[in-house]
Amino acid sequence: MRILIVGAGIGGPTLAHWLERGGHEVTLLEIAPRPREGGYLVDFWGSGFDVAERMGIVPQLMERGYVFTEMREVGPDGRRIASLDPVGLIGQAGGRYVTVGRTDLAGVISETLSERVERLFGNTVTALDDDGTRVRVAFEHGDEREFDLVVGADGLHSRVRHLLFGPDGVHRRDLGIAVAVFDVADYPRRDELIAISHTEVGHQALRLALHDGGTMFILTFRHDGLIPHDTVAQHELVRHALRDARGEVPAILASMSEARTFYCDSASQVLIPSWSRGRIGLIGDAAAAPSLLAGQGSALAMVEAYLLAAELDRAGGDPVAAFTATHDRLARVVRSKQDAAVSLGVAFAPRTRWQLLLRTTLLRTMGLPVVARIAMGRSLRDPIELPPPPHG
Ligand SMILES: Cc1cc2nc3c(=O)[nH]c(=O)nc-3n(C[C@H](O)[C@H](O)[C@H](O)COP(=O)(O)OP(=O)(O)OC[C@H]3O[C@@H](n4cnc5c(N)ncnc54)[C@H](O)[C@@H]3O)c2cc1C
Repeated sequence: MRILIVGAGIGGPTLAHWLERGGHEVTLLEIAPRPREGGYLVDFWGSGFDVAERMGIVPQLMERGYVFTEMREVGPDGRRIASLDPVGLIGQAGGRYVTVGRTDLAGVISETLSERVERLFGNTVTALDDDGTRVRVAFEHGDEREFDLVVGADGLHSRVRHLLFGPDGVHRRDLGIAVAVFDVADYPRRDELIAISHTEVGHQALRLALHDGGTMFILTFRHDGLIPHDTVAQHELVRHALRDARGEVPAILASMSEARTFYCDSASQVLIPSWSRGRIGLIGDAAAAPSLLAGQGSALAMVEAYLLAAELDRAGGDPVAAFTATHDRLARVVRSKQDAAVSLGVAFAPRTRWQLLLRTTLLRTMGLPVVARIAMGRSLRDPIELPPPPHG
């Protein structure tokens, strides 16, 4: 089958990997002019880790990624308030774990693709017309082409979802939190493999030392409005939101103008009753973003891609049956992860002093396995059974 995948992030290349193995003719379309570099780190574990293992990419991920030995919460004076062992914590769910750059993860997956996968950069789709046997696709640059099916793996603000189900806002659940992520080349403080976090009412600042000597900051803060598109306005938004922050935060904000990469968006989820219509479907954040608070969007994108390829195989190439089966197998699990993530907002940006106190108290006791299981159980549980690898 001729298959168009829109979006070369995490889910798109994973789907291309499995479809190529199934003997399909795959085109992978990406709006960015070239493979993306830099950007934020993601914690990677659970069923997504199992998919990565089946793709043979775990050694590369471990090599490029980080296994943090401690998540350290510090007070305004920089002194330790609480400590967590991330491996032990995620190990509660029986999972293996690595923290890796999102673009490194995308890169490692893409490296598994052969020349047979057609890769188009700097382009996107403008119209999709499904006549029941083929999808006619109009590209922003270039002619129309026909495909047997089209998969939107184009992220939170998916164009494919827009074309299928209407504008972005209708399907988004904004969680009242915004995130800014940036990294700088020279920052005076480094704590190798220790994630340093400082949390106050309304915000959190996380500092991570990168392999190349740089430092990454992830700032989460309460914000209900829209996020401006312009970077200067985004900087202003972050500075304003954290204007009263103490401790290291003023120094972090001062370094923002030196950022090598900068990302700012709302923490949002995508909730749609169906992930497909006819021969056009969605995976990953485009279908059901759980938000960064869930810490599992990358893994879910990979699982959805893997399952879609397996279901397509099983359905003898019937896209409607494959999309429906993938949705039926995963929708409930993904929805429960989305719901669990909503309550995690308190951990990233407590609303009140009372919530902050509760969070700190919980963190202090989380080293105890039984407390960790009770506190995190719902979000860490990963009840997804993977079928055998699709072969075609
Ligand atoms: C700050 C932050 C921290 C996070 N932390 C974690 C974490 O710890 N663990 C975790 O698992 N997840 C985390 N996530 C979520 C994770 O990044 C996403 O869930 C995951 O990347 C989804 O993969 P995807 O392939 O669906 O979409 P994406 O990775 O977003 O990829 C979409 C791709 O589509 C391309 N694209 C967009 N529009 C178009 C278009 N119109 N045409 C063609 N191409 C297009 C984009 O350029 C991009 O390459 C975090 C997210 C953020 C923002």
